Amino acid sequence: MVYNFSAGPAVLPKEVLQQAADEMLDWHGSGMSVMEMSHRGKEYMSIIETALRDMRELFSVPDNYKILFMQGGAIAENAIIPMNLAALRGQVGVADYINTGSWSTKSIKEARRYCEVNVAASSEAGKFARIPDRADWRLSRNAAYVHVCTNETIDGVEYQFTPEVAADTDNAPLVADMSSHILSRAVDVSKYGVIYGGAQKNIGPAGLTIVIVRDDLLGHALPICPSAFDWKTVADNDSMYNTPPTYAIYIAGLVFQWLKRQGGVPEMERRNIAKAALLYDYLDSTGFYRTRIASECRSRMNVPFYLHDEALNDAFLAGAKEHGLLQLKGHKSVGGMRASIYNAMPLEGVQALVHYLQEFERQNG
Ligand SMILES: *Cc1c(COP(=O)(O)O)cnc(C)c1O
Repeated sequence: MVYNFSAGPAVLPKEVLQQAADEMLDWHGSGMSVMEMSHRGKEYMSIIETALRDMRELFSVPDNYKILFMQGGAIAENAIIPMNLAALRGQVGVADYINTGSWSTKSIKEARRYCEVNVAASSEAGKFARIPDRADWRLSRNAAYVHVCTNETIDGVEYQFTPEVAADTDNAPLVADMSSHILSRAVDVSKYGVIYGGAQKNIGPAGLTIVIVRDDLLGHALPICPSAFDWKTVADNDSMYNTPPTYAIYIAGLVFQWLKRQGGVPEMERRNIAKAALLYDYLDSTGFYRTRIASECRSRMNVPFYLHDEALNDAFLAGAKEHGLLQLKGHKSVGGMRASIYNAMPLEGVQALVHYLQEFERQNG
């Protein structure tokens, strides 16, 4: 038995992988692999339409939002967002960004290529150990949009609140990178203008980017925006302006069906709270390990932690691997360890990790 704690690409439900294997050579008697199908044929149309419908149902996406299946990952979307929204108020204006970690920092850097950026709040001085208090954000009255990363995959901080920004900004839409926690918890989509994320953390394979965008935010792209990245073009063509990542969408669709069988997002959220509590409670109970993140903004999905004696890091990772606990090494920019415990990580995986943490401490403490 192996448990995979990778931050992404990441663990997928075994049942989904088994079903994909069973259907690999011949999908539902079509005589074709999904990979071999025309994206405009009736077989594939049924796959993508079901996936879109299930995503809408699972995430409670209101009717006045489009769900787009795009490519290029969240990093490409960091450019696509200003190209679609910077001129929302008529001419290229200022965009507000909240800097809460490595991924926000990247988003800010990319946006600066397209528009003026106001970093309205930042926790960089405190090494991103907390989300800046909403009361301290210095938003621009005329901001085209306000960008947040609601779960910082590398630093391990997660918003436990939905920031209200409309009143301070003359109704600027809130734009959120949810790559690493989309579908892990209930979200009031109507509070956001745009939600986006790569699929390879909490949904499916790499290659698919999910963009949820409110209807009134379509049709404002800058002239330099590539047609394939203009949200309106993508929406008008039902995510088929160019060939979509067909196989990644198919696997995401199987994950959506798996999520529905588990009880949907509310059940996932319940399990994710339990899994995160188990791990953080143990880490808090011992001086052998430590965490850096303020308890009120710890991520339920990505749990960075450190051994008090970092000279033991290699031995810890080697022992973990022997116990079937894979990919626990922290991101190189922050060091230490990181356990990513997405939807597809069962409680038993976190129990096995805690068991190993205890054992390693006993032998080395
Ligand atoms: C992984 C990740 C990204 C980068 O996604 P790509 O698919 O590599 O472009 C961006 N933002 C967050 C929050 C992530 O976790």
